Amino acid sequence: MSKVIVVGGGPAGMFAAIAAAERGHEVVLLEKNEKLGKKLYITGKGRCNITNAGDMDTLFANVMTNPKFLYSAFYDYDNQRVIDFFEENGLATKVERGNRVFPVSDHSSDVIATLQRVLKRTGVMVQLHAEVRQILTGEGAVRGVKLADGSVLEAERVILATGGFSYQTTGSTGDGYRFARELGHTVTQITPSLVPFYVKETCAARMQGLALKNVQVRIRDGKKLLYDEFGEMLFTHFGVSGPLILSASAAIKPGRVEKELAMEIDLKPALTEEQLDARLLREFEEAKNKQFKNAVVHLFPAKMIPVMLEAGAIDPEKKVNEITREERMGFVHLIKAFPLTLCGVRDFNEAIITRGGVSVKEVNPSTMESKLVPGLYFCGELLDLDAMTGGFNLQIAWSTGHLAGESIE
Ligand SMILES: Cc1cc2nc3c(=O)[nH]c(=O)nc-3n(C[C@H](O)[C@H](O)[C@H](O)COP(=O)(O)OP(=O)(O)OC[C@H]3O[C@@H](n4cnc5c(N)ncnc54)[C@H](O)[C@@H]3O)c2cc1C
Repeated sequence: MSKVIVVGGGPAGMFAAIAAAERGHEVVLLEKNEKLGKKLYITGKGRCNITNAGDMDTLFANVMTNPKFLYSAFYDYDNQRVIDFFEENGLATKVERGNRVFPVSDHSSDVIATLQRVLKRTGVMVQLHAEVRQILTGEGAVRGVKLADGSVLEAERVILATGGFSYQTTGSTGDGYRFARELGHTVTQITPSLVPFYVKETCAARMQGLALKNVQVRIRDGKKLLYDEFGEMLFTHFGVSGPLILSASAAIKPGRVEKELAMEIDLKPALTEEQLDARLLREFEEAKNKQFKNAVVHLFPAKMIPVMLEAGAIDPEKKVNEITREERMGFVHLIKAFPLTLCGVRDFNEAIITRGGVSVKEVNPSTMESKLVPGLYFCGELLDLDAMTGGFNLQIAWSTGHLAGESIE
């Protein structure tokens, strides 16, 4: 039996603590906040998208960085085991669109309460308001931790589960990166991911609050197509957000997201240019003597109409029956490829996850133990791992947390 300290009471840390305690170790879970799982509480808009019920290929396909590192962790503790864990411990779950798994209650607080019950049952000692300042080593191995109040806690094993650097008010302030560096580990460059984009044009702000469903977004760097997906997006006071846009920030490589990128929105992806032209002709036919600006009201949401009229080459006052075919085709093209310029992403405070982290090259993928410091383990978002939305990031936390805790001898 070893004495184990887990630093960080998020999903990864709680799972690591439970797994280590179940193996009979004496486990102390240190959390600097006044409660456990502050970030977990705000996940899935307060509903907590616990995991994704897709198959293994789907899990791996949705991990953007270092999916191969997760091979042991995912197979050791897959999404079904996560679902079983919660169900067996009294939390009913349901599967929604896109295989997203939520608690039936729609309350993330129930997920946290379940974890707290299991922590208690397995005998994990939870210490709140316990901020770790330093990881102590001696003769090349872990010896314990030093807390902010100066006290020292000794342990033969320390699991770091301090999370990333996004939404810092939840406690994820990047402390683990410093600890890792101090112990000789490499930390890759961290950048915000699953994060909204700034838009150069002022029209985005004018459409603030407008959500577009069933659109197609294409993003290019020069001629190179970087992203091309269907879904839902949102205009904001600074630019664009919503599921399609957040995913774009994770799909496009770091270094590129900061550059000016050309984005096109296909507002009618279900129609070809010819079909859309036929639709326009029908609208025009019904509004023969009307002005152009009054003939397009059924085509777009109200907030978008003035923007589309300005962006188009047709005089809004022009009578519909005076519009030439060429003018009409130009407008069709605008609807199929409404242009915007992306100019960088918002900062960590609005990023769902942090891309980058402790280099996985220096961590044993079968145990999560450091290859440099015996007795030191890493798990969760602190590692250089990140995934798309849909429950995949929490699956990383559960799987790596469990593996770290379970691997302790
Ligand atoms: C708004 C939002 C919504 C999200 N929704 C989802 C979702 O629905 N599904 C999904 O899969 N993912 C979601 N995510 C991502 C997911 O929440 C994270 O990937 C996950 O919480 C990472 O878990 P973790 O345990 O590694 O780190 P964290 O959850 O960040 O936990 C780290 C903990 O360590 C503590 N800590 C840090 N430093 C110290 C220290 N020095 N001493 C003591 N304690 C310390 C922190 O206070 C914190 O409690 C969302 C993220 C955000 C921001």
